[in-house]
Amino acid sequence: MPTIVHNPGEIDFDLAGKHHYHVAFHLDGTWGYSLLPLTVVNGRRGLNRTNLIVFGGTHGNEYEGQIAVKRLCADLDAEAMTGRVLLIPQLSESACNANTRVSPLDGVNMNRAFPGNPRGTVSSRIAHFVKTRIFPLGRVVLDIHSGGKEGAFPICTSFHPIPDPVQRAEIARVARLFDTPFVLIYASTMASGLLTDEAEAEGKVTIGGEFGGGETTSHQGVRHAYEGTLNVLRHYGLLEGEVRRIRPEGAAAPVLVKADQLHYYVPCPRDGVWEPVVDPGDPIHRGDLVGRLHDFSDHGAPALEIRSSRDGYIAMMHLSARPAKGQTLYVAADAVDWREVAG
Ligand SMILES: [Zn+2]
Repeated sequence: MPTIVHNPGEIDFDLAGKHHYHVAFHLDGTWGYSLLPLTVVNGRRGLNRTNLIVFGGTHGNEYEGQIAVKRLCADLDAEAMTGRVLLIPQLSESACNANTRVSPLDGVNMNRAFPGNPRGTVSSRIAHFVKTRIFPLGRVVLDIHSGGKEGAFPICTSFHPIPDPVQRAEIARVARLFDTPFVLIYASTMASGLLTDEAEAEGKVTIGGEFGGGETTSHQGVRHAYEGTLNVLRHYGLLEGEVRRIRPEGAAAPVLVKADQLHYYVPCPRDGVWEPVVDPGDPIHRGDLVGRLHDFSDHGAPALEIRSSRDGYIAMMHLSARPAKGQTLYVAADAVDWREVAG
């Protein structure tokens, strides 16, 4: 069983080999803890200037990251590695146990809790631990998400628009190592307090992504998350060997798309029952039908047709059949040439 740690200062992050911990964060209203799973791997083949930090379960009802990171905890072999890898398979451990997006302990969305607060509720204290104790130990940060109950996505890695061209190019190259069908540049303005916001602002090579959705487990999503992380380790020389294709030989290269401003995120104009007519990842043209919004209070009336305002690819579609007015109904993202971003 993992070693229980009450004071994060007790963890020797330089200890050679692989070590599993439960970092205990006391609860806010009763005696007990959220036991944060943490595995620290220090390769026995020497140091590496690029160390990795990998998160799953930042949202509790998204499983591909939890599973892929847990498998890495078991599988990575310190004897065969250089450098350091920090693995946290269930960052919002309480949300993961409850199969919810936000923590049931304090109602906090871990991916809006950064940079955290050492005197805040349990999720804020975990975010503060990550910011102050974990982030300083790695140059590359991977945060593996899925759509949860919110949205359906084509499997993609993602990153925000990054002003610094050198950081942006390195992020784009690492995002591509996951060999997902799409790589999405998404808007920073939709939300704040993200784990990735914080890591990007520190200049780290920061990759997010959507590897499934609907509170299921996508075997393709787990494969891209797991094998993609191994590719990142190979890319930086923490593991020996060449980067590998993850999709079958002959599959198309990842398509880079951007939806980097709020107008790409089309709100549902009224409550209704949603009938999409295209799938996430499909190409779309301006004027094409995306779906129909039905109002059953007048079942003889035609549905409201939702048509795309642009050319591109469907990068996100509302998952549930019952979108509410104002919720994002779909995102049609523009195709971008890799050379524009990755140099
Ligand atoms: Zn998520």
